[in-house]
Amino acid sequence: MTSPHLSGPQLLPEELKALVRTVPDFPHPGIQFRDITTLIGHPQGLAASVGHLALLAAAAGARKIAGMEARGFIFGAAVAVQLGLGFVPVRKPGKLPIVTIGIDYALEYGTDRLEMDPGAVGPGEKVVIVDDLIATGGTALAAAQLLREAGAEVSHALFVIDLPDLGGADRLRAAGVKVDALMAFEGE
Ligand code: AMP
Repeated sequence: MTSPHLSGPQLLPEELKALVRTVPDFPHPGIQFRDITTLIGHPQGLAASVGHLALLAAAAGARKIAGMEARGFIFGAAVAVQLGLGFVPVRKPGKLPIVTIGIDYALEYGTDRLEMDPGAVGPGEKVVIVDDLIATGGTALAAAQLLREAGAEVSHALFVIDLPDLGGADRLRAAGVKVDALMAFEGE
């Protein structure tokens, strides 16, 4: 029996874009929140998003996939399964039961922190970052720095959504990380 998501044509990126729900003024006035709940709730939407990301990750030579808590876990783990690779969870602080390495990074208001198991990647292992959305790039840049500190080679980061006006992809490129996204939304 063939899996339904492996037969038939995949949805195209512009069709996936139509499945993303935009919620104005969340979580703050003036923010257009790009909500993937509707994309992942659609069976072909989830499968096709993962399929497109997996093609990009394979082309980037991924040996392991890393994803940031929480929405990066959804796409990153699925991409890892599709490619037969391991998955590295990059976690919010205080979640892992072992001695971790961590990095603090600036948000628009205040700071945040990411942590990981320093033994989760091998020396020089090619790790591709997967997350739902890149805005300012602060989260992905911190994840790339943390993974590099653990010994990984981080040359690519993949996103479902890019908000190019916020400059995150440019920041990552300046740090030597190539960026690909399935779709872009202009404006904030
Ligand atoms: P940043 O560190 O600025 O690139 O923001 C990254 C994270 O914030 C993403 O993983 C998203 O989950 C979330 N995020 C930022 N802006 C938005 C937005 N406009 N809509 C939905 N999620 C967002």
